[in-house]
Amino acid sequence: MSQFDLTGKTALVTGGASGLGRGMALGLAKAGADIALVAFNNKNMETKEEIEALGRKVLQIQADLSEENSCEEVVKQVSEAFGKIDILVNNAGIIRRTPAAEHSREDWNAVINLNLNSVYLLSQLVGREMIKQGSGKIINIASMLSYQGGINVPGYTASKHGIAGLTKALANEWAEKGIQVNAIAPGYMATANTKQLREDSKRSEQILERIPAGRWGAPEDLAGPVVFLASRAGDYVNGHILNVDGGWMSR
Ligand code: NAD
Repeated sequence: MSQFDLTGKTALVTGGASGLGRGMALGLAKAGADIALVAFNNKNMETKEEIEALGRKVLQIQADLSEENSCEEVVKQVSEAFGKIDILVNNAGIIRRTPAAEHSREDWNAVINLNLNSVYLLSQLVGREMIKQGSGKIINIASMLSYQGGINVPGYTASKHGIAGLTKALANEWAEKGIQVNAIAPGYMATANTKQLREDSKRSEQILERIPAGRWGAPEDLAGPVVFLASRAGDYVNGHILNVDGGWMSR
């Protein structure tokens, strides 16, 4: 359907070589977009090769986005390679699991730096260019912990509540400039992020019991939602947090 067509668009997907980012990068590429992937290391080139096989242009950049200057460097490289950025998917994120009383300052800072600070910096850098273009889509990856408190993940919860607020704040300012800022809140998805949870049989069972769909989510489950928010089909959707959670939040 032409409303979902992304031919000629450039999408920057952070953490796009693996996990949920890979699922979204492949979805956007299948809808026609050229893709810039930011990966923490360049060991895994599988996603890049798969996108190339679809006939799209693709660039994979190695960067540690928790370092402030790397955001500027990434945006510079993508702009030079593609001439513009139409879609920014702020997906890269980490989780550190330790009870609040023992949660180290190092864990807190690492999580906030990547999950929140880099999202703000990248959105600001890319947003400035989108304002000049008069169009753009920014899609942040939130979480069920953008609403709930979670257990043993205080820094992560704070970062994802921050993502929900930042999404709305940017959406309000930039809607009139032709830029839609929204978020996807994935439920419990089978990736490296949830490996520890899935290996804990008691927690895993408790989580599965609450998911009406009766299964953990997969990276492919985010392909359709991200294409919707990145395409013309989502042009009047602003500041929304779209739960893709198999029904978790409805319980
Ligand atoms: P993942 O661990 O598989 O992927 C994380 C990605 O972030 C990887 O591609 C990694 O290379 C990248 N990354 C990590 N540190 C980085 C750094 N310093 N600089 C640049 N890139 C870095 O986990 P995932 O589940 O695919 O997580 C993707 C996003 O989805 C995260 O923001 C996460 O919080 C969010 N999320 C995941 C779930 C879930 O259940 N898996 C649920 C809700 C939200």
